[in-house]
Amino acid sequence: NESLVIIGAGHAAGQLAASLAQDGFKGAVTLVGEEPHPPYQRPPLSKKFLAGEVTLDRLYVRPPAFYDKSGVRLMLDTRAVAIDRSARTVVIDGGAALPYTTLVLATGSRPRALPLAGNDLDGVLYLRTVQDVQAIRARLAAGRRLVIVGGGYIGLELAAVAARQKLQVTVLEQAPRLMARGVGPIVSGFYERLHREEGVNVITGTAVSGFAGDDRVTHVVCGEARHEADLVVVGVGAAPNVELARDAGLAVEDGIVVDAQCRTADPAVYAVGDCTRRLHPMLDQNLRLESVHNALEQAKIAAASICGRPPPAMETPWFWSDQYDVKLQMAGLSGGHDTAIVRGSPDSGRSFAVFYLRDGVLIAVDAVNRMPEFMASKALIAARARPDPSRLGDERVAMKAFAV
Ligand code: FAD
Repeated sequence: NESLVIIGAGHAAGQLAASLAQDGFKGAVTLVGEEPHPPYQRPPLSKKFLAGEVTLDRLYVRPPAFYDKSGVRLMLDTRAVAIDRSARTVVIDGGAALPYTTLVLATGSRPRALPLAGNDLDGVLYLRTVQDVQAIRARLAAGRRLVIVGGGYIGLELAAVAARQKLQVTVLEQAPRLMARGVGPIVSGFYERLHREEGVNVITGTAVSGFAGDDRVTHVVCGEARHEADLVVVGVGAAPNVELARDAGLAVEDGIVVDAQCRTADPAVYAVGDCTRRLHPMLDQNLRLESVHNALEQAKIAAASICGRPPPAMETPWFWSDQYDVKLQMAGLSGGHDTAIVRGSPDSGRSFAVFYLRDGVLIAVDAVNRMPEFMASKALIAARARPDPSRLGDERVAMKAFAV
């Protein structure tokens, strides 16, 4: 009698439960999640859900009835506190032990905290969960001063929603450019212009040194400078939730180390999603990816492996971000490129693409309101294609012409 326990009930866990059902898994499945909700999608949390344009039930990875129908036991509001690998049990808060034959860690990541003076003041918030958004939304009111610490995609998506709701928004970014971890400099420059055009005060190259206020935050302090704030949201990256794995003696290197099948060194333990690190077979790099595509892909791979089926075909890793009327779609990883080819004009308007090549091979694309460029590039990157750079940059050449 097989029993499979999944720790974490987020995006990867929801997909894993669905894929196990699809792949015909016969054993009992238990999902242990510390949040009060069944698995939901996080991307809308800084986009349409934050803006109040969609309700929570639209975020669910599967309708709540799915779990009942598929015989999946959902243990919500429940935290796993320890794994005993020799007894093959998971201990949950309260002390009960859940036996497993297979265990999957899908613990995700959490916002990196800023351990600075005043970070516990009322009004200094983070954005990761439905609950976080509810707290932020309750404080978004026209005219209020919102200071966002971190010019990554989450901070900028929040800036876009808040600017449209007529708050006075300031973004403070330590790096010299926005979204520096995700996109190339040309695209960063475009986003700086975009946010300025929408009335956001963007300040790059500035390090926050603390937060000031009596019990509620009133200022963000950057050395000599002070920025007035009614509300502060910190978005400075995420850290993987690896403590359970590490305490259980599993290998952890900024992520739980897994192989291409999402297995840890313990054949009974898998890990999927944001919490993992592995040698990516398509990118030939050891890395940890924080994306929906990765969470879904790893969940499907793990389910296939658990059920003894062939793994699904891999796709080029991709990501997206919505800010105002601008959809950014990225495929591949641009780090390490030697050539950047621009199609369209990043300096005017809101539609262009940047292709990144290394030794003539297309390795990544950042496409801004450019679906055809994104779609074509995903396939070209997977094929390790060598498109002619001068034609890539020529708007008169349709993307179809590059098909592999
Ligand atoms: P999560 O969805 O984080 O789920 C992990 C769950 O495990 C959490 O509910 C956590 O509370 C729970 N957990 C952890 N430890 C325990 C424990 N010990 N016991 C019980 N439960 C535990 N990606 C994109 O590709 N595109 C986007 O536009 C995009 N936008 C995003 C916007 C926001 C605001 C955020 C926060 C993320 C966004 N992402 C986006 C990233 C994407 O949401 C994540 O990559 C994805 O959620 C990862 O899924 P996961 O299942 O690995 O982790």
